[in-house]
Amino acid sequence: MNFCSHCGQPVERRVPAGDHLLRHICPHCDYIHYQNPKVVTGCIPVWEDKVLLCRRAIEPRLGYWTFPAGYLEMGETSGQGAARETLEETGVEVAVGALLAVINVPHISQIYMVYRARARSAAHHPTLESSETALVSEADIPWREIAFPTIYHSLKFFFDDRSAGREDFHAVDIHPDDWMKLRH
Ligand code: ZN
Repeated sequence: MNFCSHCGQPVERRVPAGDHLLRHICPHCDYIHYQNPKVVTGCIPVWEDKVLLCRRAIEPRLGYWTFPAGYLEMGETSGQGAARETLEETGVEVAVGALLAVINVPHISQIYMVYRARARSAAHHPTLESSETALVSEADIPWREIAFPTIYHSLKFFFDDRSAGREDFHAVDIHPDDWMKLRH
């Protein structure tokens, strides 16, 4: 950030009185521009014994597979956001169910909220954000072509729970070196 979004003057970086972190502060209007982590919300839509995946048509990780997920919008609940992302990325309407996982990714300041979901129809289609959409059985999950560790772990939780006949909630923190582990 270089300029104040309130008054347009250049901002400076310093620690406000009573704080302990560097902030962007406008010396003209005194506004403190706090920056906080972003919430990514998504779901694993189920149709019969398959889950709905999409191949990313956008960077980062263009061409890799994910389930529908994206940044939460202002004024939206995490469940609404998961349903909206699914419609935008696959054309499928879902009934969002129980929370599967909350995943902290502190090195990129993101928090994932991943829900279980039921697809209301099997009619999915590619979109601007997805070059390909597919209903995939557990045996056919492209584990080596999954876009992000958060997606990988969520799918593992989902299928492990399903095999065990339970619907647990999972909380996990992702560290930068987890990425390398997943590549092997
Ligand atoms: Zn200002």
